[in-house]
Amino acid sequence: MSDIIQLLPDHVANQIAAGEVVQRPASVIKELLENSIDAHATRIQVVIKDAGKTLIQVVDDGVGMSVTDARMSFERHATSKIKLADDLFSLKTKGFRGEALASIAAIAHVELKTRRAEEEIGTCIKMEGSQVVSQEACVTPKGTCLSVKNLFYNIPARRNFLKSDNVETRHIIDEFQRVALAHPDISFSLTHNNNELFQLPPSNQRQRITNIFGGKTNEKLVPVEEDTGIVKVSGFVGKPEFAKKSRGEQFFFVNNRFIKSPYLNHAVVAAFEGLLKDKSYPSYFLYLDVDPKSIDINIHPTKTEIKFDDEHALYAILKSAIKHSLGQFNVAPMLDFERDSDLDTPYDYKNKNASAPQIEVDRDFNPFKNEGGLASFSGGGGNVSYRRERSAASWDGIYTGLETETMPESSANLKEIEFESEEVTGNLFGAKEEEHGRSTFQLNKKYIISTLKSGLLAIDQHRAHTRILYEELLKNITVSAAVSQQLLFPLKLQFNKHENEMLKEIKDSLEQTGFVFSEFGRDEVEITGIPTLIAESEVEMLLEKLLADFEKEVPSDGFSQTDLMAKSLASSMAVRSGTLLNSAEQQHIVNRLFACKEPGLTPFNKTIFTTIGVDELDKKFA
Ligand code: ADP
Ligand code: MG
Repeated sequence: MSDIIQLLPDHVANQIAAGEVVQRPASVIKELLENSIDAHATRIQVVIKDAGKTLIQVVDDGVGMSVTDARMSFERHATSKIKLADDLFSLKTKGFRGEALASIAAIAHVELKTRRAEEEIGTCIKMEGSQVVSQEACVTPKGTCLSVKNLFYNIPARRNFLKSDNVETRHIIDEFQRVALAHPDISFSLTHNNNELFQLPPSNQRQRITNIFGGKTNEKLVPVEEDTGIVKVSGFVGKPEFAKKSRGEQFFFVNNRFIKSPYLNHAVVAAFEGLLKDKSYPSYFLYLDVDPKSIDINIHPTKTEIKFDDEHALYAILKSAIKHSLGQFNVAPMLDFERDSDLDTPYDYKNKNASAPQIEVDRDFNPFKNEGGLASFSGGGGNVSYRRERSAASWDGIYTGLETETMPESSANLKEIEFESEEVTGNLFGAKEEEHGRSTFQLNKKYIISTLKSGLLAIDQHRAHTRILYEELLKNITVSAAVSQQLLFPLKLQFNKHENEMLKEIKDSLEQTGFVFSEFGRDEVEITGIPTLIAESEVEMLLEKLLADFEKEVPSDGFSQTDLMAKSLASSMAVRSGTLLNSAEQQHIVNRLFACKEPGLTPFNKTIFTTIGVDELDKKFA
């Protein structure tokens, strides 16, 4: 048999490499922006069409390339940034792999125009699927203009794999923001379909953050500053009271490169310990400067994860620097812990007094005496079933929060229970409840348990309530005209540009649910009316959660938007597990659940209840 191993042709190798470097339009933006920064640009303009699927163009005023370099730049492993393997350990540039342009040119139509300051004429090269289509001299400003058209034109599978324009644009905005935050001294702009999304003048860190996330961000920032031998930390954390419901605004930069680090994130969260509301995430923009020798950027192809030599020390330094800042800027005393518990209260129960769990104790209870007592009632019916009834009732007090209809709410004592029991003497336990179909108790503050003719019913309280609210919201939106409650004082809420873009997209649907907006500014929204189901104090939390849910995908058609909105609102408003429900509340949920169109599944297709048949129980006793 002849030898079978062959070298892959270049264009195939490039396409494979491209798979690692370019996952989506946003990856192209990242690579091109990094190249422009490495070329010492002071001004970088990004223009995209159709979320980058049709066109991505990055124009810089950097050093440009000579004719030969321009041609070389598309070769694989062609880089001007490192010469020796040793250089890898003292990297000051973003790029060093020499893979980006080769990869991009393998899977798109690429046009490069570039000119060095010292030359009068520039170079224009057109590439298609790794092939040079044309190369000629051209007139072009100093610097480089790279246009990437029809990304993945030759890999339909990858192209089809791309998400909607909304999602891809969001990824692009994310990458753009990361780079722009890392380099406040460089001017950046981003234009999408002729719509200017960002215009960022050269500035300092604080101004850059504010320019990106909106004017009100400034007052939310607490500066962090620390300089040790190992690391220089600068930047800002958000005041705890502005912590977000989603992880949106969390940025680490190491030597001006955005990185992800769950470990360092933990250090920040630890510094905030005790200051944050449940399930909220602090914002932070932290810049770490370390000796390039002490990190290894090479471990991740897209270079967002790095390895530090001395992670533990960094952790400790970061945590103490942030704690110090939070203390120094007197952030803690401004906290409002009051809202905390309120957040978990379902609306229906909001104005009711919390009822303490009822534990019924009969001080006169004497198990020995009772045996006798029981016997004295035995005339009422079958002795055996009566006995069981009685002992079951005395166990009931053990279960916290248990109040069945057979037990009077308050001072239920054994006598009364016995009396009640007497009436049902001769029936199988549970038979009486069955007629009402709704005797319930709560298990683990999570499940509502009830009896059925044929067994036991266990309902997940949060899921059930989510289903109920979801159907109610949908009905409000689609059947009845939106009912809205007028606010006495308009509610002013701030959102960043990114969130604002999303809000704009879903504004119509929000209005259908009953929101009334009087103003829709660039980073402030004024609300004068809200849906009747919602309490004013919860509006901000609900909208934040809503935006976090829309983060992944904003459906384009109105119906899916409304549906997603109803899902999101329902699940944030629904009673949580861990919440104690009194029997009226339990029954309210059970009754309303079974009046739903689809009581079995949550809008997220999760099981709401399960039953355990008597036959299954029988098996356990076999
Ligand atoms: P890397 O950035 O890892 O070196 P790239 O494929 O991204 O690899 O780029 C290859 C080379 O092309 C770079 O090393 C640089 O010399 C040159 N180059 C790329 N983009 C630019 C630009 N915008 N301005 C000047 N030179 C550039
Ligand atoms: Mg590069």
